[in-house]
Amino acid sequence: MTTVSGDVAPSAVPGRRLADLVRARGAGADLAHEVDVVSRVLPFKVSAHALENLIDWDAAPDDPMYRLLFPHRDMLLPADFALVERSLGDPAALRAAVAEVRARLNPHPGDQLSRNVPKEQPGLQHKYAETVLVFPKQGQTCHSYCAYCFRWAQFIGDAELKLAVDGPDAMADYLRAHPEVTDVLITGGDPLIMKTDLLARYVDAALAVDHIRTIRIGTKALSFHPARVAVGPDAADLLRLAERVVAAGRHLAFMLHFSHPREMEPELTRTAIRLLGGTGAQLRSQAPVVRHVNDDPAIWSRMWTDQVNAGIHPYYMFVERDTGAQHYFGLPLERAHEVYRDAVSRVSGLARTARGPVMSAAPGKVVVDGPVKLPHGTAFALRFLQARDPSLVGRPFYAKWDPAAQWWDDLVPLDEHDRSFFEENT
Ligand code: SF4
Repeated sequence: MTTVSGDVAPSAVPGRRLADLVRARGAGADLAHEVDVVSRVLPFKVSAHALENLIDWDAAPDDPMYRLLFPHRDMLLPADFALVERSLGDPAALRAAVAEVRARLNPHPGDQLSRNVPKEQPGLQHKYAETVLVFPKQGQTCHSYCAYCFRWAQFIGDAELKLAVDGPDAMADYLRAHPEVTDVLITGGDPLIMKTDLLARYVDAALAVDHIRTIRIGTKALSFHPARVAVGPDAADLLRLAERVVAAGRHLAFMLHFSHPREMEPELTRTAIRLLGGTGAQLRSQAPVVRHVNDDPAIWSRMWTDQVNAGIHPYYMFVERDTGAQHYFGLPLERAHEVYRDAVSRVSGLARTARGPVMSAAPGKVVVDGPVKLPHGTAFALRFLQARDPSLVGRPFYAKWDPAAQWWDDLVPLDEHDRSFFEENT
């Protein structure tokens, strides 16, 4: 599935379009063919801004922004690539092959549909007592798609895999019934894909609930489509909306997704950051650490330093989830921790607000504090930053050292004490 989005409204185009686009920029027939095959399985979408300003076409296909946004044959396992490839030209066989391969890619990691979604309102996630995630129905797409996206299943048109709340009233009804909730995170997709007047309906509905003190908006628009924030009447309306939330005495935070420091370089992005920060909203940054894009401490230290200079607080370095092309983007936890530790050691104290590497796993957000030598052997030291059971937060626990482990499910408890801890919480 492939889309190219322009500066105004994203528009769907046939899968072959992305291959044509790569060919037009000098790629050989083999690469264009691989783009065509992989994009049958995983969703791809590229904004005009990303095409023109983020990708170094002279360095493609090894350019990190190309790897972030375009298909690569290794995103499918060799047998799966071959299965899809030989089905091209036979629509029924292709449909079956694509469905089979997608099902193998763990479309909903972390039990998101079964464990966190309130029965009464399926477009919300209430994983931690104080925080509710809101998935507006109209915000379930993005200006471009990150090829590592753990929400890729939402973009392939399978209604069963979508999380979407019906509207602001349904959200507000749930929030009113849950006085323990203080934080609302409006997410997607990307909520800034919505027009400001629609986003404002969700924001105003949250503002009308007294016990909601913090509104967060997760977005990668400043990277993929900075015009959304920097120019035009809808952008100005967004800035006025942010000012209004701040004036109401609520904490407003834009959770900005930057994968690579290059995304912050375009003038329009710098303008967008300055304007958004000027509203009084807090700006925080987060991204996963992934192979081929940002698995280098120098990238993170530069990115965090640039962010502090621009008024953005580094927040999370995530671990790539166990879904989609994890075999392509994922790193061993050992390496993710090395990247974090090396990067954080190079930056000033103000940039050390970044926490990581963090797995947003089924039982909660688990940070890998690194290897430790214990009487029972070498172990990963782990800690919950967030947990369904708040009493677990901050308690160290251990898993056996495994240099190949990439995710929570790969970890084995170190001893009996940790075994019961894992069993109670997974
Ligand atoms: S911006 Fe977020 S939701 Fe959208 S494709 Fe990237 S990771 Fe996925």
